[in-house]
Amino acid sequence: MVHFIFIPLLAPGHFIPMIDMAKLIAGRGISATIFVTPLIITRYAGRAIHRASNSGLPIRFIEVPFPFSSEIGLPQGCETADALPPSLWSNFFTALDIWLVSVENSIQNVEPFPTCMITDRYLPGLAETSMKFGIPRIIFDGMGCFNLVLKHHLELSKVQETVKDSESFVVPGLPDRIELTKEQLPAMLKVDAGKWAEYRDRIKAADEQAYGIVINSFRELENNYVEEVRTLNKGRAWCVGPLSLFNRETLDIVERGNRASIDETECSRWLNEREPGSVIYACFGSLNNLTLTQLVELGLGLEASNRPFVWVMRDGEGKEETERWITESGYEGRIRGRGLLIRGWAPQVFILSHEAIGAFLTHCGWNSTMEGVCSGVPMITWPLFAEQFFNEKLIVQILRIGVSVGSQTARQPSELKDGEILVVIKRETIMNTIDKVMAGDEEGDARRRRAREVAEKAKKSVEEGGSSNLNLSLLIEEVTIENPTCSS
Ligand code: UDP
Repeated sequence: MVHFIFIPLLAPGHFIPMIDMAKLIAGRGISATIFVTPLIITRYAGRAIHRASNSGLPIRFIEVPFPFSSEIGLPQGCETADALPPSLWSNFFTALDIWLVSVENSIQNVEPFPTCMITDRYLPGLAETSMKFGIPRIIFDGMGCFNLVLKHHLELSKVQETVKDSESFVVPGLPDRIELTKEQLPAMLKVDAGKWAEYRDRIKAADEQAYGIVINSFRELENNYVEEVRTLNKGRAWCVGPLSLFNRETLDIVERGNRASIDETECSRWLNEREPGSVIYACFGSLNNLTLTQLVELGLGLEASNRPFVWVMRDGEGKEETERWITESGYEGRIRGRGLLIRGWAPQVFILSHEAIGAFLTHCGWNSTMEGVCSGVPMITWPLFAEQFFNEKLIVQILRIGVSVGSQTARQPSELKDGEILVVIKRETIMNTIDKVMAGDEEGDARRRRAREVAEKAKKSVEEGGSSNLNLSLLIEEVTIENPTCSS
C-alpha cells in the first residue's frame, strides 16, 4: 500500500501548505500521515484533518510531543515559531532537533511502511532518517522557483560579497535583470551569516541527498524559473500549487492555519457592506514583529488613505503598548465604520476571496504571495525579512501586479544589531502607495487586469488537465512506479 508521510517545520508558513499538500495527496486515494505537535493539533490540524478524514480521505496525524525543559530554555507552549518570543529562536531550533529524534522513533513503528517522506527543507536532520530507514525523501521548500533560482545564483556567484551594504548589484545568470542590495538578502545569504552559516551548510548537504523537490507554485507563474529548478534537480521538481486553492469548504478556508479571531459571519457582513474592489486588506503574516513606531505609521497611513480597510494586528510582543496607542489616540473611534481591526489570526484566504477586496498590503511571505496571486487583486508590497524581498521582485517587476512601499532592509526587529534602528516607512508613503495601486488610471487598470489574468491561470493550473494537476500525477507515478532510491 502506498503511504506518504509528511514532516513540516513547526511554523505556520510551513505547516499550513504542507497539511494542504497531505490533503491533496490523500485526495488521490493515497494514505497520508502528518507528524505534528499537540499544539498544532489543538490549534488547527485536529479539526481540519478530522474533517478531511470524516469525508473519506485516507489521512491521519501522529502527535509527537515537543520537548520543553529549563535545560533547553524553552517554556511550555513554545512549540511553533509564531508562539515564540523572538529571543528564543535558537533554543527553539535546539528543541526541534530533539523533537525530530522522537519523530524518527515514531516513523519506525508507523504502518504501513512509508513509501516516501515529504519533509521540510529546513529540517536537514531528516536526511539521515531517510537513509537509516530507506525511505526516499522529497523536500518541500515552502518558497517559489524564482526564489530558489535567485538563491542558487547568489550562492554560486557570491556577487553579494563584492559590494557594500546599500550598493545595488545585479544577480547574474537570470533571464530577468534583478537588482538587489546586500541589505535585502536573507540572513543565511549574508557574508556574516553567523549562527545561520552552520545551519545553511547542513541544509545544503541534506538537499544533495534528497530525491526531489515539491513546490507550492505553478508553471504559468514563473515558467523560466520552474525550468531551471527542474534542471538543478535532475528533472525531479514538481510544482503542485497553489496549495491554498485545495480548500474548498468554507470551514476549511476560514480555519486554515488557526481558529480565526473574528467570527466568519461578522467578517462577511462587514465585507458585504463595502463596494466591490474598495477594501485594502493589510496583513504581515504569522511572524512579523513591527515596532510600535512602525505600527502607528501604518495605522495612520491606512486612515489617511480614506478607503475602507482590514488591518490584521498579530498577537505578540508589544501588543499592550499598541493597544494603549489605539485607545489613547482615539484611533479606533476615528476609523469606526471604515476600518476593521482583527487582533490575532485573520481568515486570510476567506477575506482575500471576497469581492470587496481591492488590494492586498502584504509582507510578501511566499504563502501570502500565492494567496494574493489567487485573489486576483494587485498587491502593495512591504517585505520585512527572509526571502520576502525576492518575492517582491517577482510581484512588482516580473508579474507587474504590485507596487512597492520601498522597504529596504531585511530584518526582524529581533535580528537588529546593537543600536541599529530600522528605517520607518512613513504614513505619507503608505498612503501614496495605496493611492497608486487603487487609482482608476490606465496604469492601475492594466495592473488590475494582469492580476486577474494570473489568478485565472492559477485556478486553471489545479483543475483537471492543468499543469499542477498533471505534476501531481507525475509525482505520484514517480514515487509509486519508479521505485526511487534514498539519495539522488
Ligand atoms: N495567515 C492567516 N492569518 C493571519 C496570518 C497569517 O491565515 O492572521 C496565514 C496566511 O494565509 C499564510 C500563512 O499564514 O498562509 C503565512 O505564511 P507566509 O509565507 O505568507 O508568511 P510567514 O508567516 O511565514 O512570514
